[in-house]
Amino acid sequence: NALTQRAREAIAQHLDAFGIDPAAPASNWIAGRLIAGDGETITLIDPVTGAPLLSYRDAGAALVEQAIEAAAAAQVEWMALTASERGRRLQGAARGLEGHEEALARLESLIAGKPVGDCRGEVAKVREMFEYYAGWCDKQHGEVIDVPTTHLNYVQRIPYGVVGQITPWNAPMFTCGWQLAPALAAGNAAVLKPSELTPLTSALIAMLVERGGRLPAGLIGIVNGLGHTTGQALTAHPRIAKLVFVGSPETGRRIAEAGAQRLVPSVLELGGKSANIVFDDASLEDAVSGAQAAIFAGAGQSCVAGSRLLLQESLLPAFTERLARAAEAIAVGLPTDDATRMGPLQNAAQYRRVHALIDEALAQGATLLTGGKAPAGLPEETADGYFLAPTILTDVTPEMTIANEEVFGPVLVVMTFRDEQEAVALANATRFGLAGAVWSRDTAKALRIAHQLRAGTVWVNSYKTINVMSPFGGLGESGYGRSSGLDGLREYTLPRSVWVETAAHATAAMGYGDGQ
Ligand code: NAD
Repeated sequence: NALTQRAREAIAQHLDAFGIDPAAPASNWIAGRLIAGDGETITLIDPVTGAPLLSYRDAGAALVEQAIEAAAAAQVEWMALTASERGRRLQGAARGLEGHEEALARLESLIAGKPVGDCRGEVAKVREMFEYYAGWCDKQHGEVIDVPTTHLNYVQRIPYGVVGQITPWNAPMFTCGWQLAPALAAGNAAVLKPSELTPLTSALIAMLVERGGRLPAGLIGIVNGLGHTTGQALTAHPRIAKLVFVGSPETGRRIAEAGAQRLVPSVLELGGKSANIVFDDASLEDAVSGAQAAIFAGAGQSCVAGSRLLLQESLLPAFTERLARAAEAIAVGLPTDDATRMGPLQNAAQYRRVHALIDEALAQGATLLTGGKAPAGLPEETADGYFLAPTILTDVTPEMTIANEEVFGPVLVVMTFRDEQEAVALANATRFGLAGAVWSRDTAKALRIAHQLRAGTVWVNSYKTINVMSPFGGLGESGYGRSSGLDGLREYTLPRSVWVETAAHATAAMGYGDGQ
């Protein structure tokens, strides 16, 4: 396949420039070095064509062990620096990416099948996250608690030590920076396992930021491999003091269980089935454009995808007609073309799952308004690739599978509501709780609805706006804990309460007394 051949050559060039042998890529970053795994061979498939793209070997338990040992030693060095120095080093870490942004974006685009413009956005966010959290290093003050004057009681915010992080394939670079930066800013070392489907950019990011920031070698460990080998070795390791997982609810449960075995806490950033509610007094132009971006960005492979469009009854069918035209105008194409807005699905399993969910929806009575198959006009070599045109299903009822399952693809379901009460009930009729949006020119109404949505993030007349300063996370099957902002930083610290006797004579408490 000529397209995959070109992709292979482009990947080889990028890897070569980073000093990596494309024939046996060293995909792990351990103790300040790129190291190849020696486990099972994992072959990446080109999402554009379905042909083999690149092979590497699973890291396995021994390399996980090495990464954790190196991380534990580096963490002691890291905490021996002053807080201000850690901040300066993390600023340096952000600068370490300079000049490599395009190579990282191109590499990810080739491997993940993600539009190169989106990949550039991801790299920019990684830099922003390191810059933002660098600023927190010397601003994490403890507290003094107002206990009786016989004692001084203060609370320190201490790091966990070595944290374990596991990330998915849909936003490999974003999720890598998203979790590494706060972990380090809080004084931890981190060992991260990216998805086996997108292994390379996380190791390169770790290399660049560790070098750029002159971080202690090993402070970041990247181990690549399968979930049940490398992933499990990481979650089960006794030195990992906290687990942070970004991925599906099914795996999230397993991670939390692995944590529970050792009584280690976890943060779970999982999937969603987010509602996008449009009232008839909304700016229809804005709402149409918001609704299509909400679901079709990243080919719907986004945890916050606005996958359930809830329209006030009178808007149907004019709104869906406009939306279908907007969806059909989206430039679906080769991920490495600058003009492409939507690429293929990332992998065969995902492609099959999305098609199966569409078929089931049609069998249950839904109507296909647009999409459902690969778009016209793609090069011939993509016939076995994982392309799917933006797909919209109408006549969907809340009981249908498609109205309840996370599709994680460019598939929008449309349902209608009569009034505010019904809109809220419909929006909240989900086991997930990641995000949601309301479109209306009536601000009071929009806020009334927004405040009733069971979701970690709610947008009003907007969709998908995020900022590293603002907390992000879910409830229900979307997980627990928060990332980004001060809340995201706090997830990586533990409060330690220190008591100092200030009275002339010690008054150690017996039982649960207050020492008085
Ligand atoms: P996944 O759950 O299949 O895999 C995620 C990661 O877990 C991978 O690195 C995988 O190798 C690893 N893993 C699998 N089994 C494991 C095990 N037994 N032990 C340790 N690690 C294991 O998810 P995915 O398909 O890669 O990603 C898609 C999912 O991620 C979607 O549900 C999406 O909504 C979710 N997601 C959530 C957010 C968020 O912030 N809430 C962001 C991005 C993606």
